[in-house]
Amino acid sequence: MSKKVIKNGRIVTASDDYIADIMIEGEIVKMIGLNIDAGGDVEVIDASAMLVMPGGVDVHTHLEAEIGPAKTVDTFESGTMAAAFGGTTTVVDYAQQPHGDSVIAGMDDWLGRAANACVDVAAHMIITTFNDQTLVDMKTILQRDGVTSFKMFMAMPGVMMIDDAELYRIMRMTGENGGLSNIHAENGLLIDTLIKEAVAQGRNEILNHPRVHPSITEGEAAHRAIQIAKLAEAPIYIVHVSSQEAVRHIAEARYDGTPVFAETCPHYLFLTEAEYDKPNDEAAKYTMIPPLRSQEHQDALWRGLAGDDLQVVATDHCPFCLTEDSWGLKHSKALGKESFAQMPNGAPGIETRLPLMYDGGVARGRMSLNRYVQLMATGPAKLFGLFPRKGTIAVGSDADIVIFDPNETWTIKAAEHHSRVDYSLFEDRQVTGRVKKVFLRGEMIVDGAEWLGHSGGGHYIPRGQSGQM
Ligand SMILES: [Zn+2]
Repeated sequence: MSKKVIKNGRIVTASDDYIADIMIEGEIVKMIGLNIDAGGDVEVIDASAMLVMPGGVDVHTHLEAEIGPAKTVDTFESGTMAAAFGGTTTVVDYAQQPHGDSVIAGMDDWLGRAANACVDVAAHMIITTFNDQTLVDMKTILQRDGVTSFKMFMAMPGVMMIDDAELYRIMRMTGENGGLSNIHAENGLLIDTLIKEAVAQGRNEILNHPRVHPSITEGEAAHRAIQIAKLAEAPIYIVHVSSQEAVRHIAEARYDGTPVFAETCPHYLFLTEAEYDKPNDEAAKYTMIPPLRSQEHQDALWRGLAGDDLQVVATDHCPFCLTEDSWGLKHSKALGKESFAQMPNGAPGIETRLPLMYDGGVARGRMSLNRYVQLMATGPAKLFGLFPRKGTIAVGSDADIVIFDPNETWTIKAAEHHSRVDYSLFEDRQVTGRVKKVFLRGEMIVDGAEWLGHSGGGHYIPRGQSGQM
């Protein structure tokens, strides 16, 4: 078995912070100690002055996903290669039940495509149609494939929306089986009405996008989801929280001891709705749901992270190109040229999560290094049944390791990204902290700008029960 030693790095986990050597044997961390004697046949990697952290765990991506008439532009290969360059070694992607079809068919299709991944992958399943068979099939993939979380949309009636009674039944079954129900919390019926009103009045510019997704529709849905979860006696996880109303409801429920967990995304933490006032071509980059909101909401999200009312930062990487016909995909952000209502909603971010959060979180003094690792890797790995194999650096854990330079300052450029998408939400932003080397189960897959990984190098990881924190 191949052996490597990462020497003299500052090892940071969610709980520890010390300088030591890490011996990797095969795919796992074999030993951690001081001055480990490497011996002759052992590859030595010097990590002096570097942070050595667990590989990132991004639990919200949409790779090769069909969303309405559009399809996201990153394949499992391109998306996970981009993830790797951003220091993420495990991606939990959203598989989807084709509308009106079976959950199992959706899972089998996803497993086939995910075989091309370059980092380790796991799946949540999006439930789009509900009947008695749906519950049976959900249980099947839960046991067969280790898919222990399901996502339901309270938005997009007729396409994705699951009603309150269905939510209750799904939450109950999922909770009884040790799983987690992921909720897209927006009031779909109200939002659809607001969209129709805007279009009828000829308000088609993108600046209307946040107006038809007001924060009250997110807060209402988050509150309702929490009440349904209480009734079902099941834990829930609210995805991509963007509003102070939602944070408040989550905080209140947690104060009462209700098992509610939640995530936010870098774009909500660093950008505001001012982006929508830009010319349409530029504003198109930022259409996602929920939308970017005001500074007040952004501040509430940072407070939520600080107080542990939000436990995860994930990307919701859902990339659509700006230009038409990119990569053989007809539908892009150009669909929304005539009206925001036709715009595919989603934005990229899989490659910039770790550096952005290091810069905005740690370097600016908003959070400790331990809290940073907790949000980037340990927390999501625990919540979604991947810990301790993933999400930490410990003897026996997978050797998924990032060597990170905390002092390098650099500028984000979409042209230097590895995703297929043709823009970044953070173009020209200067950040401090950069991923230098990445190991996936002991194999170095990123070395500076050099790519050493390969399609199919990632494994499918069946997940265990949700380990609630
Ligand atoms: Zn999403």
